[in-house]
Amino acid sequence: LEKLRKAVDEFDLKDLKNPESETTAKFSTLPLSQPTASGLEASHFQNLTDVQAKAIPLGLKGRDILGAAKTGSGKTLAFLIPVLEKLYRAQWTEYDGLGAMIISPTRELAVQIFEVLRKIGRYHTFSAGLVIGGKSLREEAERLGRMNILVCTPGRMLQHLDQTAGIDVDNLQILVLDEADRIMDMGFQSAVDALVEHLPTLRQTMLFSATQSKKISDLARLSLKDPEYVAVHEDA
Ligand code: ADP
Ligand code: MG
Repeated sequence: LEKLRKAVDEFDLKDLKNPESETTAKFSTLPLSQPTASGLEASHFQNLTDVQAKAIPLGLKGRDILGAAKTGSGKTLAFLIPVLEKLYRAQWTEYDGLGAMIISPTRELAVQIFEVLRKIGRYHTFSAGLVIGGKSLREEAERLGRMNILVCTPGRMLQHLDQTAGIDVDNLQILVLDEADRIMDMGFQSAVDALVEHLPTLRQTMLFSATQSKKISDLARLSLKDPEYVAVHEDA
């Protein structure tokens, strides 16, 4: 574990490479834990996409990230890998409670993220859950208390934080806001603001969207600290 931590500290963007190509890089050249490396391999992910190559090294180093890249560019792994690695390097266990929260605008997208997490996270021992409603608040709350990673929709998550005692967020290490543009378009700004108010301020935050806009920079200002900007353009 010390070796992995040191490798992450010393990792430089120029270390990211692919022996067979100048323009792509392989996941195997990233300083990743064995469970994540095996999960990626078993899921047949080999080369990083552009947004992944830009965001993952920064994410691994604990930086806050404001990332914009069009739909289909691979943003899910760009945040899931730093999430898994952060908790792994912290030797997170069931007793440490909630370590990561991933906020998605819709239930469907939350389910998709959860499925990717299950695939690439299969060799990790973390518990992960979905908080998207559909069951009674109480039933959901009972399971929540045992989760290390939650994928949620803003309204439902806020309902739990406001109304149920099932969840303790004091240990949270990392927050992800996915599809931030849609979160704003769907009118979740105040829910997200209120949600963030519940969370510890000493945390890593990654915000991803398909577009860049004023609304997103407003959201970013509230949730991110000195973020790295990662943008992949249409013609990139
Ligand atoms: P976005 O969130 O940017 O819209 P996704 O994360 O949903 O993009 O990924 C889009 C598609 O690309 C998915 O089918 C995913 O499995 C695939 N994908 C993502 N990263 C890679 C990669 N490094 N190599 C191959 N396919 C990938
Ligand atoms: Mg996405």
